[in-house]
Amino acid sequence: MSNQMKSLVKAKPEQGLWMQQSPVPEIGPDDVLIRINKTGICGTDIHIWNWDDWAQKTVPVPMITGHEFAGEIVELGANVTELTVGQRCSGEGHLIGKNSRQSRAGHFHLDPDTRGIGVNEQGAFAQYLRLPAFNVVPLPDEISDDIGAILDPLGNAVHTALSFDLIGEDVLITGAGPIGIMAAAVARHAGARNVVITDINPARLALAEQVTDLVPVNVANEELADVIPRLKMKQGFDVGMEMSGNQVALDQMIEAMVMGGRIAMLGIPPGKSPVDWSRIVFKAITIKGVYGREIFETWYKMIAMLQNGLDVSNVITHHFDVDDFEQGFAAMKSGASGKVVLDWTKSI
Ligand code: NAD
Ligand code: ZN
Repeated sequence: MSNQMKSLVKAKPEQGLWMQQSPVPEIGPDDVLIRINKTGICGTDIHIWNWDDWAQKTVPVPMITGHEFAGEIVELGANVTELTVGQRCSGEGHLIGKNSRQSRAGHFHLDPDTRGIGVNEQGAFAQYLRLPAFNVVPLPDEISDDIGAILDPLGNAVHTALSFDLIGEDVLITGAGPIGIMAAAVARHAGARNVVITDINPARLALAEQVTDLVPVNVANEELADVIPRLKMKQGFDVGMEMSGNQVALDQMIEAMVMGGRIAMLGIPPGKSPVDWSRIVFKAITIKGVYGREIFETWYKMIAMLQNGLDVSNVITHHFDVDDFEQGFAAMKSGASGKVVLDWTKSI
C-alpha cells in the first residue's frame, strides 16, 4: 500500500475544496484503518466548501472533509479484538470523550467534548480513514455501501423521528431536505397515521413523494391549516419534526400542533429566532432539541428497520466518481438533489 492517498481537502481558507495527496493516516492501538468505498455529501460539507462564518470559526485548515461513509476495515490497532480485517462498515463520525458526566452515565451523544470527523478531525473524503474502533458500525450484507454512506443523516432522521411515540399519530415534518424526507419514511415505517411534509421547493416535495407515502404541502402557495380538515384531522398534528432550519416553518408548526403536541427540532435556526413563547405555554407544547445520533441506540434501530422493510434508497438522486466531485457539489447546491453519493472505489 502506498503511503499516500487521494483526499478532498479544505486546503486554503477560501471557497472550494481541493483533491490532493495526503499521507495515509497512522492508526493508534484502539483505532482501525478503513478503506473508503462510498461517501455522502452533507449540508455541512457545503458550509465548509462555501467557507461561511460557521466554517471559518470551526474548521482548522488544512482539513480532510467528509463524515458520511461506508468502507471496509483494512488494519486493526493492537488492542482491537472485536473487529476483523475485511469487515464492511460505516461509523459514528462524532468522536466522544470518556470523562464527562454524560459519557460516564452512558449518554455518549450528550458528551460536551464531542469532536466531528471532517470538521474538527481529519475526515472521510479520502481513500483511507482512521477511526476509533469504538465508533465503527459493522454493516450487514443486505445494507449496500450506498445506504451505508448515508447512515449518518438517516441516523439524524431516526433519532428525531423516534424522539416521541408515533404509532397512530398525525405527524408534521417541516423541510423536505434529505433528512426530512428520510424522517417521513421512518414515521411511516413506525406506524404514524398521517405524515405531512412541507417545503417551498417543488422539486424536493416531488422527491419526498417518490421516497414514501406522505402528503406534500408547498407552503409557498398552500395553507397548512387547509390540510388539517382535508385529512379529517380534528385539531392538528400530534408530533412535529422541524427539519428546515427556517423560523417561518417553526412558527407554522407551532400553530399547526394540537394542545399537548410534541416537537423534535433538528433544523438549525439562523441565530436567535423570534418565537411566540406564549403559544408554546398555552398549547402546553414540548420541544426537544436533537443533536446527532444516539450512540449507539440510533444505529441499532436504523439498521434493524432497514433489515425490516424501511426503504430510503430513492433519496439518493446522484452518483459520481470522486474525480467528478465538483459535479456532486454542484448537484447539492442546486437544491434539486436528494443525497449525492461519491464513489472512491475506482480511484484505487
Ligand atoms: P436541507 O437544507 O437540504 O433541507 C432543508 C429544506 O427546508 C430545504 O428543502 C428547503 O427548501 C426547506 N425549507 C426552507 N424554508 C422552508 C419553509 N419555510 N417551510 C418548509 N421548508 C422550508 O437540509 P438537510 O440536510 O435535510 O438537513 C435538515 C436540517 O437539519 C438543516 O437545518 C440542517 O442544518 C440540520 N441538521 C441538524 C443536525 C443536528 O445534529 N441537529 C444534523 C444534520 C442536519
Ligand atoms: Zn452529515
